[in-house]
Formats: sequence, structure tokens, C-alpha cells
Amino acid sequence: MSTNNAAWVSRSLDAVWHPCTQMKSHEQFPMIPIARAQGVWLYDYDGQRYLDAISSWWVNLFGHANPNINAAIKTQLDQIEHTMLAGFTHAPVVELSERLRALSHHQLGHVFYASDGASAIEIALKMSFHYWRNAGQSGKQQFICLKNSYHGETLGALAVTDVAIFKNTYSALTQNAVVVAGPDNRSQENTHKVTAEALQKMRDALEKHRGHIAAVIVEPLVQCATGMVMYEADYLHGLRALCDEYQVHLIADEIAVGCGRTGTFFACEQAGIWPDFLALSKGISGGYLPLSLVMTKDKIYQAFYADEIERGFLHSHSYTGNALACTAANATLRIYEEDAYLQKNRVLANKLTQSMSWAHEHPSLEHIRQKGTIWACDVKPSWASATFAKEFFMAGLKEEILVRPIGRTIYIMPPYVLSDDELNHLSKRLEKTLARVLDGQSEKDLNLSSSTSGADHTRMA
Ligand SMILES: *Cc1c(COP(=O)(O)O)cnc(C)c1O
Repeated sequence: MSTNNAAWVSRSLDAVWHPCTQMKSHEQFPMIPIARAQGVWLYDYDGQRYLDAISSWWVNLFGHANPNINAAIKTQLDQIEHTMLAGFTHAPVVELSERLRALSHHQLGHVFYASDGASAIEIALKMSFHYWRNAGQSGKQQFICLKNSYHGETLGALAVTDVAIFKNTYSALTQNAVVVAGPDNRSQENTHKVTAEALQKMRDALEKHRGHIAAVIVEPLVQCATGMVMYEADYLHGLRALCDEYQVHLIADEIAVGCGRTGTFFACEQAGIWPDFLALSKGISGGYLPLSLVMTKDKIYQAFYADEIERGFLHSHSYTGNALACTAANATLRIYEEDAYLQKNRVLANKLTQSMSWAHEHPSLEHIRQKGTIWACDVKPSWASATFAKEFFMAGLKEEILVRPIGRTIYIMPPYVLSDDELNHLSKRLEKTLARVLDGQSEKDLNLSSSTSGADHTRMA
């Protein structure tokens, strides 16, 4: 049996094809085998610990090995682990659907399930298209997405993703979506103007493709995967009005920003709007089990309700509504509500702002920004070599923090249970990590460094 890092890494490299990875890069960059985890900490087989500052790819909300979620799953395990959801139902999926409906103030009262985020996006796209078809408007077949959008990497989701590194190679296989510039507000110049211009561009696109667009899909408030591009709620408000005016659906991809991440349970709430479809995944199961879902309105649900089978929604996954995953989600939502995380996250967000205030004085950083418990900044282009993200990740490990910059964007998105001491550790060690990387860079020829765009790195970092 393997007992140390090196042994597990070599076996993994031999047998596991890792996601989002040029496997050859592991000749140079380490892989970390995790032996166990507790709270915000990950522990490897050599006894090193790492503060999980990115919530294990944005999925973990209430810490690893959370006692409440563990207990709920153990109890459910002895009742029913899984049953098919076609023709059958079970308590965890009913309870979860009712909870989500209540969280949407009864606006999005019908919940369809899948397992991963990309599948939820495919479901929303198919439902939107099928709704229009059922409504006698089968000409509405196209989708609008925003520049730098990320909605997942299966072929349908990739069609509405605008990240070159993921898309270009496979573009022959994907449908064409209409890509419209979004309200990228990283430089925080005149937010009102940025919003107004982006809405005008959206109006132009809706006008140009009038009658052919089924839906507009957006990541509300933060385009995470492209480098934590943040924008104002006003944009969503304006977008909702445009979608109503042109009679197209609005799909809110809250896979990364939902579940309290930006300061409200759903990011859309900050704009005072409801989308026609809302996708959740990542945090919904507390980071425990694969689960995704699409919530929609009664009006849409009713358009599928008929005697003919083909008017019904034609989509299924074997693990749809998995009982253990729904149980993890119910336990997660119970913690969110009973422990008042809506309020607690606002406190954490303020502490995050204060703790990271050193970044404003730092000569190599720019575009410091935050939404809820997502904090981000960019290293100035002159300091960002092509390998900046990887070097930062490696230097971070030496400082006991797990941080994976996206291009030149450094961000943290910690579990909500981060304590004051842990935040302090994270902030100090992040500053030290930056110093390590920049010291290393100053020894090199800085002329080599090009302005690496976040969009070329994303999860590849
Ligand atoms: C992660 C993510 C997805 C895809 O989810 P997967 O479970 O990785 O397929 C889609 N949209 C957004 C906004 C995401 O952050």
C-alpha cells in the first residue's frame, strides 16, 4: 500500500488521466495526493497541510468532513442510496425541490435534476428551445452568450462558452452561438457607462437576430472561470427587461455564484429579478457529491404538460436526483438557513475586504475587486509571465495555501466556515506567496512576459 506522496503520484500518473491537464506538465509541476481533509484544510500523505482557499474548485461551502452533512449522508445510506427517478420518487428529492422553490420565493417552483454543471446547462438550453417549439415558435433555435462566458465543456455547453483554450480545438463540433460583449467591469471606471454600453450591445444583437433567439445565458454578477470578471446587478436588471421585450428566455447559470456565494442565496436576487431558468451545481451538495439542477417557472412547466409524449421534456440521466446527493444538498441548505449564513457571509465578506487591504498598497497589483466571498485582483501585465499562475500555485503550496490563479488573476473563494485565524493565515501567506513569485520573476528577463489574458488559462492554471 502506498503511504507517501511520491508513491501515490506515480501510481496516479500511470493510471489516471487528470482533467484540464496537459499530463506532460506533471514532469515539472507536482501533483498533490490528498490523504484526508477537515474544515478548510487538506492534508497530503507527507503530512503537509494546505488551506483550501478555492473551496476545491468552488464546490465546498461548509468545510470538508462537515459533521452535519456526514451524519445526514450516513443516515440516508441505510435507507435508500439511489433509485431511478422516472416513475419513482423519494423523500430527499421532494424535500430539496420544496426547499429550492421556497428559496426562490415560489417563482421557480419546478426542479429538474442532473449530475454535473454542464448537463444542467444542456437541460436549460434544450428546455428553452423545446418550450418555443411547443409554443409554435420553432424558429427560435439560437442562443446568446456573453464574451468570456464559461458554461461547461460538454458539446452543448461548450457552444455557449467563450473561452478559447477550451473551445477552439473542438469548434468544428459545436453549434454557433451569438457572442455579445458583457459588462466587464474589472477596471471599475464608470460602472454606469459600462452597464449601459453592454445593454445597448445586447439590444443590437437581439434586434439583429429577432425571432431566432431562444435564450440569453449569463453568469450573474461574476464570470468566474474567465478570471473573476465582476459586474453590477444593474446589468441583470436591464437584461431581464430586454429579454421580456424581445420575448427570449433568460438563463441564469448560478453554478458557481449561487448558494450564497455573492451575498444573497441566488446572485439574481441582487438585481431583483428572476430568470426563466436557473442552474445550480457545485456548492449545492456542499461539495460532497455530484448534483446539478435547473429550476424553472410554472409557465414553462405548463407548456410541456400534455397528452403527447413528445411535448414532454425528453431528457434523462441515470443518476437523476440521486438520493445521497439530494441528502447532502438538504443538509447543506439546512446549515445555510439554520446557522444564518446569509448574515454570516456578509460578516465574512467584510473581514475578507479588511484582511486583504494590503493588496491596495501593492505596486504590482491592480483591479482589486470583490463580490461576497469572492475576492480577486490582477497582477499587472508587466509582472505576469506566461507561467505566473503555475509558479504562484507552487509557491502557495510552500506557504500552506491552495490557490490557483487564472492567468494573471489571483483570487480566493474560501469555504464559508473560514475562521478569523484561518483568514489571517490565508491573507499573510498569500502576500508572502506573491513576494516569492515576484522575487523569482525579477531575476528573469521581464521582456519575456507578455500580457497573458485570463481567458487563455482558466482552469488550466
Ligand atoms: C463549473 C461551471 C460549470 C460547469 O460545471 P461542471 O460541473 O464542471 O460541468 C458551468 N457554469 C459555470 C458558471 C461554472 O462555474
